[in-house]
Amino acid sequence: MTGIIFDIKEFALNDGAGIRTTVFFKGCPLRCAWCHNPEGLDPKPELYVKQNGCLKCGLCRRPCSHPECQPFGRCLHICPKNLVTVKGEKWEADDLANRLLKGSALLQSSGGGVTLSGGEPLLQADFACELLDLLGGKVHRAIETSGYATAETFQKVVKRCDFVYMDLKLADPEEHRKRTGVSNEKILANAAWLKESGIPHTFRTPLIPGIVDTPENLSAIAKIVGSDPWEQLPNNALAPAKYKSVGREWIL
Ligand code: SF4
Ligand code: SF4
Repeated sequence: MTGIIFDIKEFALNDGAGIRTTVFFKGCPLRCAWCHNPEGLDPKPELYVKQNGCLKCGLCRRPCSHPECQPFGRCLHICPKNLVTVKGEKWEADDLANRLLKGSALLQSSGGGVTLSGGEPLLQADFACELLDLLGGKVHRAIETSGYATAETFQKVVKRCDFVYMDLKLADPEEHRKRTGVSNEKILANAAWLKESGIPHTFRTPLIPGIVDTPENLSAIAKIVGSDPWEQLPNNALAPAKYKSVGREWIL
């Protein structure tokens, strides 16, 4: 089956053990105010125009006859600085698995593997399952997830993984809804299941100043995590620059 991927990062060192290849799934049901991958939010392929270095020449806005440019309203081929691209590429699961397995010997020798990230991989759960099945037994499989999905979807995907990184951002339901656009009810239920599942995992909390890193929130999350592994991640200050590239507004 087909999925939409917006990036494949080789030699990733922060997405699990060892050297990893990280696959970024397009689309996320959350809208975290601090999201550092705004190009991963929309499930569909979208225009990405790098702002840094733009000559304001307007060439990319001129009508062109390339069929692949028509859905985006810009020419993807004429920019003299190569700033105009599309984020989101269709992949067949078996083609993507073959591509990922080409580097598997190096990944395995470093104790690494493949990590599914995003966006939110659970939003393309059937595609993720097919990909994970194709990789199974050949390379270590990890996932980075918000945990926002039905129990059935969450469990069928993470049961196919060798390791799970799951975010716990905000413990208070109203604050979670306000800052991410969705309730944390499903996330907390899935976290409780994960804790009992026996699947190796680590919970993660991004330390967004004044929102996530408050003593009240961290103390409430610590209670949810209990004695399980928990990483607190530093804030990524590079995020705002990407928002203009996909025509979104940085609201923090
Ligand atoms: S869950 Fe992750 S990808 Fe989705 S909006 Fe939040 S930070 Fe961005
Ligand atoms: S063609 Fe390139 S440099 Fe010219 S306006 Fe478009 S993005 Fe900017």
